[in-house]
Amino acid sequence: MSADCLFCKIANKEIPAEIVYEDDLVISFRDINPQAPTHVLTVPKKHVTTPNDAEVEDQSLLGHMMLTGTKLAAELGIDESGYRLIMNCNKEGGQTVFHIHLHLMGGRQLTVLG
Ligand code: 5GP
Ligand code: ZN
Repeated sequence: MSADCLFCKIANKEIPAEIVYEDDLVISFRDINPQAPTHVLTVPKKHVTTPNDAEVEDQSLLGHMMLTGTKLAAELGIDESGYRLIMNCNKEGGQTVFHIHLHLMGGRQLTVLG
């Protein structure tokens, strides 16, 4: 838990969110400003500020986030049509919340990255 971190507060249920999945390591919830018909964020319960701050000890956690994303894609019915899993880093990467999160986006034809 990091004080004043939005996603720590969502993980701790101090701020409400539309939760679609939770286990001991991660929580997944719908993005408040969806950029696609399906837009879900998967965040670790452990506070990691940016992808730059992930360490070797976080390797399985990062893998678990990816597999949570693919599992949710199947559950939400976009695995066959296709989707994107994205993790942004710092200003030029478009990161606006400084607690790492994996975007799952799908449900429409996505356009070129960038
Ligand atoms: P980033 O730009 O850091 O990669 O993604 C942050 C995402 O968090 C954005 O897509 C934004 O809409 C979402 N977001 C910001 N604040 C909240 C919130 O309070 N609740 C939820 N559910 N999503 C949020
Ligand atoms: Zn946090």
